[in-house]
Amino acid sequence: MGELVCPDCNNVMARLFDAPDGIAVSAWIPAAASAPGDPNGRRVGWTFFAMIDDSMPDEESAPLKCWRGHDHLVVTARDCRTAAAAYRSTGRKKRVPLSPMGPDTVR
Ligand SMILES: [Zn+2]
Repeated sequence: MGELVCPDCNNVMARLFDAPDGIAVSAWIPAAASAPGDPNGRRVGWTFFAMIDDSMPDEESAPLKCWRGHDHLVVTARDCRTAAAAYRSTGRKKRVPLSPMGPDTVR
């Protein structure tokens, strides 16, 4: 119902799904060893999956890395709720750019 995108290249980094208990977040995390622009298209990484329910604080966050090499991005529960709220009010998928990881980021 929503997508979290890299603010630099608009690459979709995570997808949001409606779940009975809240928001399900599914993201692809490239492994550190995978080179950006791998000519063989072979991507190494793992899938990040999280549930955001009503008890999770807005500041709850997880670092994400764009596979094109844009690092230091962070997804917060607030971002996911923003996208989910927009979807529920408009019925349209919402794209939310991720925030750069800053010194004020609560981890
Ligand atoms: Zn990027």
